[in-house]
Amino acid sequence: MKYSIFSLLSQAFQGNKGWSTAWRDAQPKDEYDVIIVGGGGHGLATAHYLAKEHGLTNVAVLEKGYIGSGNVGRNTTIIRSNYLLPGNTPFYEWSLKLWEGLEQDINFNAMVSQRGVINLFHSDAQRDAFARRGNAMRLNGVDSELLDREQVRQIAPYLDFDNARFPVKGGLLQPRGGTVRHDAVAWGYARAASQRGVDICQNCEVTGVRIENGKIIGVETTKGFIRAKKVGFAAAGNSSRVAAMAGLRLPIESHVLQAFVSEGVKPLIDTVITFGAGHFYVSQSDKGGLVFGGDIDGYNSYAQRGSMPLVEHLMEEGVAMIPMLSRLRFLRSWGGIMDMSMDGSPIIDKTPIEGLYLNAGWCYGGFKATPASGWCFAHTIARDEPHKLNAAFRLDRFATGHLIDEKGQGATPNLH
Ligand SMILES: Cc1cc2nc3c(=O)[nH]c(=O)nc-3n(C[C@H](O)[C@H](O)[C@H](O)COP(=O)(O)OP(=O)(O)OC[C@H]3O[C@@H](n4cnc5c(N)ncnc54)[C@H](O)[C@@H]3O)c2cc1C
Repeated sequence: MKYSIFSLLSQAFQGNKGWSTAWRDAQPKDEYDVIIVGGGGHGLATAHYLAKEHGLTNVAVLEKGYIGSGNVGRNTTIIRSNYLLPGNTPFYEWSLKLWEGLEQDINFNAMVSQRGVINLFHSDAQRDAFARRGNAMRLNGVDSELLDREQVRQIAPYLDFDNARFPVKGGLLQPRGGTVRHDAVAWGYARAASQRGVDICQNCEVTGVRIENGKIIGVETTKGFIRAKKVGFAAAGNSSRVAAMAGLRLPIESHVLQAFVSEGVKPLIDTVITFGAGHFYVSQSDKGGLVFGGDIDGYNSYAQRGSMPLVEHLMEEGVAMIPMLSRLRFLRSWGGIMDMSMDGSPIIDKTPIEGLYLNAGWCYGGFKATPASGWCFAHTIARDEPHKLNAAFRLDRFATGHLIDEKGQGATPNLH
């Protein structure tokens, strides 16, 4: 069923009784050309682009829970491409371009909202660093504007500009950055892939990997053994666990990241805005709730919930940036499992096992990467070689020393 103004009107007159389910709830077949492990944003996008760009439709996405139960439905929905380093900038810019055409591509309202992302700076040294990043973006054809204090005040008058400890001195704005409704991305990609013939198999956990003579031949699942010519791992926070089934030890740690939503208030914050003196960011959802988050909790875990000290720390940062937040009530919080790589950048690559491919290491920034990640991973799987956009995201860069350390702070998950 194609979604359009005409289908909407016709359903309205029929009492909305004729809508069909968005995607087929498939049961796995015995064999596929490609199996994607993980039905998050990246796995579903990969399946969509495998079918659309490479004509591969004998494909299954195996998801241990339900579609949207992982980080794709838990993130704070921010998209941007304000990166500094050569390996990252073109990749994230391609992702933003795909976001800009996504709703037409998949015929699904993902509520792509390019409301702008502002990173505040609070010192002269930080202004220099942000100017450098903004210039690198412009050299790569990415939009960026360095705002002074008064320009920021016009956009965000609610900030504490004269905070004695962290006065706001300006900000780096990416006007094309913004937010996208996260679960709609999962549903939209699932629907688009399913329409092209991909099997989306929920409640089908991969429990083992069968390898013969260095080549993958299929996966063991809770619904039996499934044969496959090629297998792609896109299991985000569970990447290390899944890779261990194939005997691979990844340069990845799993950490918890929390998110929070406040009670709904009238329109207040019409951009995404981040605190430069700590790690705190906030935007406002269409329902009026403030959606915010910050840093990882800082200990390894596979639990999808966080701890109290980080909650307190985040609230302090929020109030330091926007004092009026102290009068808001917060309604909900949750956690997701982050696949933190050692340099903060992702991996989209082949593995030493023939026919096995890896998509991992997204840390807390993988939502914005969803379209480009799926697009590049599909290319890598279909053509058996990386696309130039993901050529730097190699698995062996941690051995060869070709790290992509965007923050320049060192190779440990708690530093980036
Ligand atoms: C609180 C929070 C805030 C965030 N905010 C942002 C943000 O604002 N912007 C941004 O860009 N990024 C953000 N992120 C990061 C982003 O959400 C992730 O990097 C990204 O969603 C990971 O890719 P995914 O969607 O494929 O992951 P997931 O949705 O987690 O998909 C992986 C799937 O694999 C499945 N799986 C695991 N093991 C198996 C198995 N053995 N068999 C079958 N299936 C399996 C899981 O059930 C899961 O559904 C945030 C994350 C969190 C938790």
